[in-house]
Amino acid sequence: MAYSFDPSYPQQARQDVMRGIARWNQVLGDCLPLQPRTSSDRDYINVHNGGGCSSMVGRVGGGQALSLAVNGCVHQGTVIHEFLHAAGLIHTQQRPDRDNYITMHWENIVSSWRSQFTKESPSNIGKYTDYDIYSIMHYSTSHPSWSVNNQPGFTAKNPNVDSRRIGTGDDFTKSDALAIRRMYKCPERKFTTAVNSNNRNQGNKDRQPILCSNE
Ligand SMILES: [Zn+2]
Repeated sequence: MAYSFDPSYPQQARQDVMRGIARWNQVLGDCLPLQPRTSSDRDYINVHNGGGCSSMVGRVGGGQALSLAVNGCVHQGTVIHEFLHAAGLIHTQQRPDRDNYITMHWENIVSSWRSQFTKESPSNIGKYTDYDIYSIMHYSTSHPSWSVNNQPGFTAKNPNVDSRRIGTGDDFTKSDALAIRRMYKCPERKFTTAVNSNNRNQGNKDRQPILCSNE
């Protein structure tokens, strides 16, 4: 996938985004590399400093906007999350089979955010991998922006799930990478976690959960 930065996108933030892109290419470089747009790329992703973190789902054609706000969106995990949307993944909690894995608590979700929890049609998700509650595409159980009184919007059905790990990852999970490999018909290579300390997918309390609103 070709990407570019909006001309006004700040230099420091570009470096932060590039770290996420480097991790992407480490994991998926042989399958769906992220490469700077060249003159022959008619379809590309344009990273800009929008009002939050958001992306279109899948290739739209032409220059499609991907918002990584300088304040709050330039973490590795968020960069990977948004580019996974652009590659075609939706939020895990919108999978049609999610009710087998989580129990919704709609009363704890601010009404304007409830659409982020509606199920999407089976055609565009769920057929590549099993439900992964620790996927980087899964919402956290609560968030100051959408939780009512900081109460969880959903809880995991499996009592062994560590709810602090849900939606707070900073890296692909194995199944996130596998979903792209299957979607794009790439060889299923062994997935290796990051060798640096960027892989905080073990539930780092300091990390803010990813907040992304789909378009
Ligand atoms: Zn998202």
